[in-house]
Amino acid sequence: MARCEQCLQQFHQADACTWQHVEIEGQVYGREGTYAFGKRFEQAVNADKDRCDDCGVLAGSVHHFGCTLERCPRCGEALATCACDEVYPRYEEKKQA
Ligand SMILES: [Zn+2]
Ligand SMILES: [Zn+2]
Ligand SMILES: [Zn+2]
Repeated sequence: MARCEQCLQQFHQADACTWQHVEIEGQVYGREGTYAFGKRFEQAVNADKDRCDDCGVLAGSVHHFGCTLERCPRCGEALATCACDEVYPRYEEKKQA
């Protein structure tokens, strides 16, 4: 079974990835949750369990790195295969209000 290279949790066992940001060509973006992928994700979601069909996170949660259903926040294509260069996972603590 696949494992996320960043949070080191197994696909389909962890409810969400703990790495909530990604740096793309020098700019940091918040990663989009599963519903943000729109139709393509909805077709792939398991209707019974409401988890991502590929990486297994709960609906509405951030995908694991390596999931083919995560959308790139920069160009809108699938992050795993889009044309953006210099994509680096970023782990940032939530800032206190
Ligand atoms: Zn996923
Ligand atoms: Zn992960
Ligand atoms: Zn992209």
